[in-house]
Amino acid sequence: VTQVRDVLPFAFSLAQHERMAVARLDPDRLADLWGAASSRAAVVGDGRVRTRDGEPLWLPTGDAPEGERVLLGRADGSVWWAVVVDDPGQDHQAQTLRELAPYLSARDCSLLAEATGLANWHRVHPRCARCGESTDVAEAGHVRRCPACGATHFPRTDPAVIMLITDDQDRALLGRSPAWPPGRFSTLAGFVEPGETLEDAVRREVMEESSIVVGEVNYAASQAWPFPTGMMIGFVGRAVTFDITVDGLEMEQAKWFTRDEVSVMLSANSVPSTMSISSWLINTWLTGH
Ligand SMILES: [Zn+2]
Repeated sequence: VTQVRDVLPFAFSLAQHERMAVARLDPDRLADLWGAASSRAAVVGDGRVRTRDGEPLWLPTGDAPEGERVLLGRADGSVWWAVVVDDPGQDHQAQTLRELAPYLSARDCSLLAEATGLANWHRVHPRCARCGESTDVAEAGHVRRCPACGATHFPRTDPAVIMLITDDQDRALLGRSPAWPPGRFSTLAGFVEPGETLEDAVRREVMEESSIVVGEVNYAASQAWPFPTGMMIGFVGRAVTFDITVDGLEMEQAKWFTRDEVSVMLSANSVPSTMSISSWLINTWLTGH
C-alpha cells in the first residue's frame, strides 16, 4: 500500500478520484452505478468512518446499510460511495478521519475527505436556513433542497488562512494556543471573514494574534480539512514590524524562532504532525525551499 506520506507532502492535498458531477443529475445512471458489482461504499457519520482492523471498510454496495447515499466518484476502475448513517460504529469499529489519515492510501485519503466533509455538512443542515422546513437530499448527496420555499443549499466549506511569517533576520513567527500540549508551537492561522481577501485575512490574523504588521504575502498551498468543513489555505509572508504582543486568548505565546531552534523542536516533536499543512510550511522554510 502506498501511504499518504509517500505520495503527498501532507494529507488531503491532492485529489485522487474523478468526482463524476454530471452523473449526480441522472437518477437512472446513479442506480446503475450503485448496482455495479465493482462499486464500493464506506459507512460514515458522526465524524467517523467504519473500520475493520484499523482500515476503512469498503463494502460492496449490496452489503451497505441503509443511509443517505453519497456518490464520491471514480478511481482505480471502481465507483466509490459513502453511506451516511447516525452511528457508523454501531456493532462495528469506527475511527475519525483524523486518526486514520496518516495511515491511509492517497486514494482513500482523497475519497474519505469528500465523504467526511459531506457527512459533517448533512449532519448539521437538516433544515432550510431560509424558512426552517426539513430539506431533501438531492444530486447524490451534494445538494439539499427545500420542498417548502424551493431554496437550494450547497455544501459549505469554511476557508481559513495559515501562514509562515518571517522577519528580517530569517526567523519564523510561531505561536502557541493555551489548549496545546506544553512546549508545542505552530504557524498562526485563522478564519477568513466576509468581505476580505485571503491576503488581508493573513495580515489581520497575524496583527490580532501577535501585533506584527505583515507586508508581502504569497500563496503557498492549500489543504482540504473536513473537521468539520474547513479548507486550510497556506501562505508565506514578510513581517515589517517585529515586536510581539500576544492577545492572551487565542495565542498565549508567540516568538521569533531561528532555523536551529525549529530543528530542535522538530526532533522533540513539539511542532504539528507531518499530515498537516503547518508542518509542511515549517519544513519547507527550514530546508530553504
Ligand atoms: Zn425553505
